[in-house]
Amino acid sequence: MIPGRFEYHQPESLDAAVGLLGKLGEDARVIAGGHSLIPMMKLRLAMPEHLVDLKAITDLKHITVDGGVISIGAMTTQAELIGSAELALAAPIVKETALQIADPQIRYQGTIGGNVANGDPGNDMPALMQCLDASFVLQGPDGQREVSAREFYEAAYFTAREDLEILSAVKFAVCSGGYAYEKQKRKIGDYATAAAAVLLTKGGDGGCSHAAIALTNLADTPLYCEEASNSLMQSGVDAASIDGAVASCMSIIEPVEDNRGPAEFKKHAASMVLRRAIELAWSRA
Ligand SMILES: Cc1cc2nc3c(=O)[nH]c(=O)nc-3n(C[C@H](O)[C@H](O)[C@H](O)COP(=O)(O)OP(=O)(O)OC[C@H]3O[C@@H](n4cnc5c(N)ncnc54)[C@H](O)[C@@H]3O)c2cc1C
Repeated sequence: MIPGRFEYHQPESLDAAVGLLGKLGEDARVIAGGHSLIPMMKLRLAMPEHLVDLKAITDLKHITVDGGVISIGAMTTQAELIGSAELALAAPIVKETALQIADPQIRYQGTIGGNVANGDPGNDMPALMQCLDASFVLQGPDGQREVSAREFYEAAYFTAREDLEILSAVKFAVCSGGYAYEKQKRKIGDYATAAAAVLLTKGGDGGCSHAAIALTNLADTPLYCEEASNSLMQSGVDAASIDGAVASCMSIIEPVEDNRGPAEFKKHAASMVLRRAIELAWSRA
C-alpha cells in the first residue's frame, strides 16, 4: 500500500523542529524510526501532509549516566540501547526489554522516543518506563517540561504530550536491584499478548526495600501496579505475598479479545508472566 502525499522536512536542531511544528500546525507529524508511523500511513490510518524528520538532530541521540541519573535521547535506537555497555550496567532491565521488541531490523530503526511517545498499548518501553519511574522531557514552543511516565498515558494513542511538543529525552535513576521483563508473544517479532516489568531491591534485613511492577498490553494504557508494588514492600517476597501481588494486578487489568486470544486467555498469560517476572527479579536481587 502507498501512503498519501506529504512534504518532507529535515530540521537540524530541536528548536527548528519545534518551530516547524508551530508553523505547519496540525497537518504535521514528527517521524523518528518510522516503524510505527509508516505502516499507519500505508494503511491511510495516518495522513500527515508534512513529516518533520528528527534524524538530523544529533542532540537527540545519547546515553549518559551521570550522578546516578540515566538520560537517553529520544532518537536513540533500540539496537543502541542493547549495545550500550554503560546502560547494561546501570539499568540492565532496559537491554532485557529492548531485546524482546520486534526483530533486529526493526530495532535498528525504531527509537525509544517513538516507542514511548506513540501511546500504543502494545509497545514494550512505556510499561518499562513506568516501572523505572522515568520522566519524559518535552520541548514545546513555551519551553521545556517534564512529565512522569506514570502520568503520561491517558488512553490508547492519547498522551499528556501536546501536539506542538517533541519528546527530547527520557530520564530515570540508576537501578541496582533485581529486575525482569517477561513477555508472552505468539512468535518472534510479535507484540506482547501480556508482559510484565518488575524491579525488586533487597534490604539489609532480607526484606524488600523497593518494588515496582508495570504491565504491557493488558489495558488501553500501560499499567503501573501501585498497590501490588506496595504490598511486596510491606510483606516481603514469599509465596503468599507473590499470590497477593498477582491477584492485585489481575484486578486492574482490562484485556480485550483480539487475534492474540480471548480476554480470559490473556488474563491467564498475564498472571503467568507476572509471577515469573517477580520470581526472577527476586532471585537476582
Ligand atoms: C512488525 C513490527 C513489530 C513490532 N513489534 C514491536 C514490539 O514487539 N514491541 C514494541 O515495543 N514495538 C514493536 N514495534 C514498533 C517499533 O518498536 C517502533 O519502531 C516503535 O514503536 C516506534 O518507534 P519509531 O522510532 O519507529 O517511531 P515512529 O514510527 O517514527 O513514530 C511513532 C509515533 O510517535 C511519534 N514520535 C516519534 N518520535 C517522537 C518524538 N521524539 N516526540 C514526539 N513524538 C514522536 C510520531 O509522530 C508517531 O506518531 C513493531 C513494529 C513493527 C513494524
